[in-house]
Amino acid sequence: MLRDLLIPAPWRRPRGPARPARHRPAPVCLASAIVVVFACSRPAPDDPESPADEPADVGHDTQPADEDAAVLIIAIDGLRPADAARADTPNLDRLADEGAFTGEAEAVMPTITRTNFVSFATGGFADEHGVVGNQFKTDDWEERVTDGPTLEEAQASVPVPTIFEVAEEHGLRAGMFAMKGYELVGARGATVQLGGGEVFPDEIWDDRYNPQDGGSVEEAVSRRLRKNEVLVDVLAESLETQPLDLILINLGATDYIAHQQGPESEHYIHAIEKTDALLPRVLELARAANPDRAWHVLVGTDHGFSATDRDQLVVPHLEGIFEVEALDEAGIEHRIYQRGGRAAELYVRDDADAAAAAELLQDRPWVRAIYTDADVDGRAGDYDDLRVGYEGRRGAVYVITDPDYAFAFPNAGQHGSDEPKDRTIPMWLWGEAIDGTSADLDGATNADIGPTALTILGIEPDEALETSGRSLLTP
Ligand SMILES: [Zn+2]
Repeated sequence: MLRDLLIPAPWRRPRGPARPARHRPAPVCLASAIVVVFACSRPAPDDPESPADEPADVGHDTQPADEDAAVLIIAIDGLRPADAARADTPNLDRLADEGAFTGEAEAVMPTITRTNFVSFATGGFADEHGVVGNQFKTDDWEERVTDGPTLEEAQASVPVPTIFEVAEEHGLRAGMFAMKGYELVGARGATVQLGGGEVFPDEIWDDRYNPQDGGSVEEAVSRRLRKNEVLVDVLAESLETQPLDLILINLGATDYIAHQQGPESEHYIHAIEKTDALLPRVLELARAANPDRAWHVLVGTDHGFSATDRDQLVVPHLEGIFEVEALDEAGIEHRIYQRGGRAAELYVRDDADAAAAAELLQDRPWVRAIYTDADVDGRAGDYDDLRVGYEGRRGAVYVITDPDYAFAFPNAGQHGSDEPKDRTIPMWLWGEAIDGTSADLDGATNADIGPTALTILGIEPDEALETSGRSLLTP
């Protein structure tokens, strides 16, 4: 019976006498054949080239963390609520039955992995945490990357505190387990930071973007699903030596499979079901390593998905940099960066060109909508409406591409836009602090996950973070 597969109720453990105050453990760097810690300390704040990029000081007043609670945040990368409902997901259903659920939460813009994982970690939107994508042009027309060249530099580009820093300041131990690796840009402060190419065997890492492996779709799907299992094995190995109180893990196979096979495919539904089946093991690992705490589970996702036409490629991917012919012909010096597959951001060298550039772009058949402050008829809204513009990291025009096209990669599924398919997401909260009346999921966004986690841990998010997300738990 399905019930046998369901999550046990680990938070209903017997309550013992109060435990003595804990000592803050020293950060531990793990290293073994498959486990690599990228960074175990906060990055050096001094970067003379970009003083605006210094990480924030987390020296706020500390308060004792909740001695009883622990939080496991599980992201199922690229999960649409309608498909989660269509799939057979007994474990997610149980979280909803016993906790709180919404199918109408929102990802932050752009609806891409990097930005939303940093929102999980900081409680903010892109205009607050600055991870607007992986590239941007400075006002001096210099190109910068937000997820490199090293992880420490990438993390230093996040100008606000992370929940991992805050948790560790309160004597808790935090860890992040990333599928793609670049999610770790938001992991600054976590004792354990694992993910990306270092933790996966080559045979399931190298071909991760291919829709077929050896000519077989089934083999490709199976290997992407294997990545989820390997990441859970990485978590298991790490927890053997380093118990944690706050965990964020990205079960990302769903994203690869939706890109490659399309979000309307049965492969995607299958991937959701296989991911659901992994959830009990993830919780059991966290709890077994740290059994005295009441584990709370937040399940969410970084974004939804749009089905796209892989045969109508707008511009082939060339190291992430694109130029638009019509703008070249008009003599407008520009750069366009893709924000996921369904959004792009246009930077122009000369601000006076913004309106002309916006008008030219708006006429392209692959453009669904534009947001710009320039005075252009028919634009969808002001640039700032999307909350994607961080000071010094913003372009002139935000472009939402049409799903009848694939922007930069010949994918059957892409995301990045502000449309409901990409932006509307499901969210589950579960644990003893949560029931239908203690959670207020109306208008929930991914900026609220981090503040909610801190609240469960007994830390006041408004004092600890510098962003606008809110706790989803009512006082
Ligand atoms: Zn994706």
